[in-house]
Amino acid sequence: MIDVAVVGQGTTGAAVAALCARRGLSVVGLERHDLQEAGARWVNGVSGWQFDEAQIERPSGDELFGVVTAFHVVAGWGPQRVTAKPDLLEVDMRKLVARLQQVAIAHGATLHPNVTAHGAQNGILETSIGRIEARWIVDASGFSGARLIGQPRIQPRDICAAAQEVRRVVDIKAARSFFESHGAAPGDTVCFTSIAGGYSIVNVTLKGETIGILTGSIPADGYPTGKALIDQFVEKHAWIGDTIFGGARKLPLGRPIKKFSAGNVIAIGDAAVQMFSAHGSGIGAGLIAANLLAETLATGGDAARYERLWRKRYGLLFGAYDLVRRFSQNRTPEQLAALMRIGVVSPNSIKAGLEQRWPAPFSRA
Ligand SMILES: Cc1cc2nc3c(=O)[nH]c(=O)nc-3n(C[C@H](O)[C@H](O)[C@H](O)COP(=O)(O)OP(=O)(O)OC[C@H]3O[C@@H](n4cnc5c(N)ncnc54)[C@H](O)[C@@H]3O)c2cc1C
Repeated sequence: MIDVAVVGQGTTGAAVAALCARRGLSVVGLERHDLQEAGARWVNGVSGWQFDEAQIERPSGDELFGVVTAFHVVAGWGPQRVTAKPDLLEVDMRKLVARLQQVAIAHGATLHPNVTAHGAQNGILETSIGRIEARWIVDASGFSGARLIGQPRIQPRDICAAAQEVRRVVDIKAARSFFESHGAAPGDTVCFTSIAGGYSIVNVTLKGETIGILTGSIPADGYPTGKALIDQFVEKHAWIGDTIFGGARKLPLGRPIKKFSAGNVIAIGDAAVQMFSAHGSGIGAGLIAANLLAETLATGGDAARYERLWRKRYGLLFGAYDLVRRFSQNRTPEQLAALMRIGVVSPNSIKAGLEQRWPAPFSRA
């Protein structure tokens, strides 16, 4: 019997496979698509400390799309704004996922592309290539995945429709003048917030002759999807050209699911809503959870121990920031601007939120 069968080879599943195999466990990973199509296929913001905590080398070379120099949160389309300087890396997820899969394979894991998990019965995994017996089955199959422990359906008001595209810039002078008009230098991120409901964003970064556009909203509140927000923004700005790569998907918001495991099956990553709900970020959370799980299983611990450790370290943080998300969901741009003016939304709170940490309680910055 193998030690660990991992369903899903996106960021979280590939990290579980890599970090378990690196610790000497025998691992089989399954992915319903080609391995090159697994998980996030766009650019994501991940805080540097999260790689260190997950014991995964920070991205470099082509995998590192950019390092955020300054992050301007703009209320609506402006002018009120707050600027923070977070520790935030812009990561080309296609390359990070490929790296994690390669580490898994290099440490002896077997990864099967185009294999779908259908369920887990009596501790045995049912898949499109037959039954797999493993000491531990890990469900890292994401938001619309296998739901191997009967995860509850996510309520519509807790679903964000996000999109991210890297596009060519066809008129660099016009692009620069757009960023300058918002007080931003090339490399800075300008995040127009609350433009389609309190939770929504259109977030843009100029990198060389390309622009990264990240959008998201909660359509159940009656707003356009992230993809529609990108299309509307591009239509208004003739200096933006065609798409180089990117994608769009739904992601779960809210607090993590109530119980991470059933028998020998453990849910992790988006499949367990280990999502930093305040801005819909699950990459760092999934990597850190993967490392904690691998460490626990490799040292003879079980699912309950892993869950206790995770909740003790991150449960309150994730719960508290989900309250921030719920509070922000119904705010108007004017209300956001007022929160900026009175210092509730401040450089300190924005930096902490982007880095997925607690804000320093007595800092004035
Ligand atoms: C446009 C967009 C922008 C985002 N930006 C950020 C960001 O800036 N920062 C950040 O941290 N997060 C961001 N996120 C969220 C982040 O992408 C997700 O939290 C992350 O991808 C979750 O990783 P995961 O491995 O848990 O799940 P997934 O990435 O969903 O991977 C799950 C994998 O499981 C496979 N699978 C599903 N079902 C089965 C099955 N039955 N059998 C076998 N395989 C299966 C899928 O094909 C997939 O490859 C963004 C999301 C979107 C959509």
